[in-house]
Amino acid sequence: MTAFWTEPDFDDHEMVHVVRDRNSGLMAIIAVHSTHLGPGAGGTRFWHYPNPKDGLRDALRLSRGMSYKNAMAGLPLGGGKAVILADEARTKTPALLAAFGDAVEGLGGRYVTAEDVGISEADMVAVSQRTTHVSGLPVSGEDAAGGDPGPFTAYGIYLGIKAAVQHRLGTDSMKDVHVAVQGTGSVGGGVARLLAKDGTRLTLADIHKDGVNALAEELGADVVAPDAIMTTKCDVLSPNALGAILDDESIAKLDTQIVAGGANNQLARARHGEVLFARGILYAPDYVINAGGIISVGTEYIARRDGRHASVDDVNALIEKIPARLEQVWQKSEAENTSPDVVADRMAQELIGRG
Ligand code: NAD
Repeated sequence: MTAFWTEPDFDDHEMVHVVRDRNSGLMAIIAVHSTHLGPGAGGTRFWHYPNPKDGLRDALRLSRGMSYKNAMAGLPLGGGKAVILADEARTKTPALLAAFGDAVEGLGGRYVTAEDVGISEADMVAVSQRTTHVSGLPVSGEDAAGGDPGPFTAYGIYLGIKAAVQHRLGTDSMKDVHVAVQGTGSVGGGVARLLAKDGTRLTLADIHKDGVNALAEELGADVVAPDAIMTTKCDVLSPNALGAILDDESIAKLDTQIVAGGANNQLARARHGEVLFARGILYAPDYVINAGGIISVGTEYIARRDGRHASVDDVNALIEKIPARLEQVWQKSEAENTSPDVVADRMAQELIGRG
């Protein structure tokens, strides 16, 4: 037996709840890193881990990540994450989701769940039959907060890119600034559309050729092959596809002044933030710039919990604070000669009372 709480990934979690329900076959881990700012909020991942230890590690790392993200987003929410350890056949039954909902309810609101990899909106609706501690449910009214987080994430990234351009290039106009967008799905496509309205010069790349070509035609953008986007000469590289894309090799070949995009966990290792900094490239820490979606989902949950209405305008007002937060990070980074990712982590730790 291993005492996992003695390992670094434990990082003083307030609670790690292991749930087993023999009847439904549910095996889950609910990790709550911090409730300093509010209930630990973060999605539920449904995944088959050949080695269950990897499921525990995911729950702990993702839960801490949510503490930092929610804190930097200015939300009254702490950080948590659940992992349902799926069997090899990834059997997901109504009974299993109900048992999971009961487990969340049993925590009395210390943990608030949402969708993540392997969990659909319909699954969350099923979970919400057993517990009210669910965020990201379908919205009722047209102007109500919540719903698909993609466009909100894209809006925050668009504002963050503008802030980075202002900071590094000293201009508040995006006209003719060259942005290279990796991944043109829900987030990257939204970012490209918003930038196009400002007359930004765009180069796009996606592994789905038809989709990227159609978007490029619509926006008058250039397209390059997926393996060429990271070396494209540009002012801003906006990664909106995969994580772990910034490593020693790729950073050495970057031909940009700024990296600002929505993909989660862009730094292959923590030290790659310093490598970017040493190359003089301005980095927007991913969990700060991509918080638009969680701001929307979190605002929807808090309003529903408190019996209030929250509108899209309320959400946008919070998203519009992302540029100021990034500016704070960059200023501190320059004053302390420390990379922005490290500065952001420290700021988040202070916000959750662990400074
Ligand atoms: P998506 O699946 O809609 O889009 C991802 C796009 O990336 C797809 O079009 C895919 O074809 C493309 N892609 C995959 N591999 C690629 C490669 N090697 N080169 C170029 N393109 C590639 O997903 P999304 O919702 O737009 O999310 C994009 C990223 O942003 C993910 O890392 C996600 O975790 C992160 N993110 C999303 C949200 C959100 O609200 N959707 C919020 C925070 C973070």
